[in-house]
Amino acid sequence: MQLVFATNNLNKLNEVQALIPKHIQLLSLKDIGCFEDIPETQNTIEGNAIQKAEYVKNNYDYDCFADDTGLEVKSLNGAPGVYSARYAGEQRNANDNTNKLLEELNHKSNRNAQFKTVVALQLNNKQHTFTGVCKGEITVAKHGKKGFGYDPVFKPNGQNLTFAEMDLQLKNSIGHRGKAISKLVDFLNSLR
Ligand code: IMP
Repeated sequence: MQLVFATNNLNKLNEVQALIPKHIQLLSLKDIGCFEDIPETQNTIEGNAIQKAEYVKNNYDYDCFADDTGLEVKSLNGAPGVYSARYAGEQRNANDNTNKLLEELNHKSNRNAQFKTVVALQLNNKQHTFTGVCKGEITVAKHGKKGFGYDPVFKPNGQNLTFAEMDLQLKNSIGHRGKAISKLVDFLNSLR
């Protein structure tokens, strides 16, 4: 089975590749000749994931899955949420986003937050969604160099390390995207 993962993010591709069973050949957007920016104009995480998967199906006719992720911070009423990528502006810079988050939380005692990923699958003209959540807290400073995005400031509950200090295997086993992808994998395996 061939399945497109609708992302240009190499970090995500590596994370997901490690979780997908061998009988599924994962194709990237580059592999199918899709080089344009896929629209993400919805105001929910789920809406954006569905929009991306449908775009690939409608324009390239491949079965496909797409993910969208947001970081929801309790004392910021769920922000940055669906706007996590552009939190500090349209330049979509991870360092700027993280710095802004640390500033916004400067005087807040409640630093609880969660990552939420929704994976939308378009398969045989049907749509399915799978959600993964990872609860944790925002640290007061950045720690670690691994991963991407907000990883240096997110410490999952029950761990002493931020995502950016962890091996990929550990991040995948407890992380939001790993949880959503394993639901996807269970579903794909159930079709065999
Ligand atoms: P996307 O829409 O899934 O690409 O992600 C939205 C924003 O959340 C981007 O700024 C990403 O850098 C960030 N993000 C997504 N997944 C993760 C993660 O696993 N760790 C840290 N930041 C992430």
